[in-house]
Amino acid sequence: MLVSLFDARRATAGDRAPRLVPASTRLWLDFVNTDAAAQLPGGDLLRDFEALLVWFHQHGAIDDERAAGIRRRAVLQPAAAAAALVDARRVRASLRGLAEKGQLHERVRDDAVVEINRVLGRSAGTRRLDRHAGLYTRAFVPTGDAFAGLMIPMVESAADALVNDELARVRRCADPRCHRVFFDGTKNGRRRWCDMGTCGNRAKAARHRARSVTAH
Ligand SMILES: [Zn+2]
Repeated sequence: MLVSLFDARRATAGDRAPRLVPASTRLWLDFVNTDAAAQLPGGDLLRDFEALLVWFHQHGAIDDERAAGIRRRAVLQPAAAAAALVDARRVRASLRGLAEKGQLHERVRDDAVVEINRVLGRSAGTRRLDRHAGLYTRAFVPTGDAFAGLMIPMVESAADALVNDELARVRRCADPRCHRVFFDGTKNGRRRWCDMGTCGNRAKAARHRARSVTAH
C-alpha cells in the first residue's frame, strides 16, 4: 500500500489520539471551509493564531506534543505567530481558487502549484520510517522553523488531489449563498450540496414549496 507523507504523519499522530476521518473528506477542503465566506455570518474560523492551532490540532494536522511546543513558541515570538497566520490565510485563498476553479482553469491550477511548492520548498525536515502497532509508515519530521512546517499537511492534501486527478470531484455547494467546498465521493458523482442536512434540505423544501404553488 502506498502511504503519502501526510497519511503517514496522520497515522503517527493518531497513535496518541486516534481520529477517524471519513473517506470522503479532504483536509485541504475542510481548511478552505474555515474562511469567512464559508462561515457566514460567523466570520473567519482562524481569527487568531491560537484558533488556527486549535483547528489544526482538532483535524489531526499536528499532534499534542507539537501543538504544545508551537503554542510556547507563539508566546515567545508573537510577530512570527502573526506572520504564520497571515501566511495560512494566503495559502487558504489559493486553495479556495484551486477547489472552485482548478478543474476548469489551468492558470488557477498553475498558481496553486506555485503556492504549494512555495510552502513545500521552505520546509526543512527529515524523512523516516516508523512502525506503530505492527504497521510501517513513512513520516516527515519538520526541523527548524516550526511555524513554517505548519502548513505542510494542508498543501500535501491539496497536492494529493492533483496527483490523484480528483479535481473534477471537488466543487462548491450548489446553493448560491453557500461558499462551502466539498469532495464528491458518491458513486455517480452527482452530489450537489455541501451537506444534505442543511443546504440539501433547504433546496428540497424550496422545490416542495414551488410544487405546491403550481398545484394551486
Ligand atoms: Zn452548502
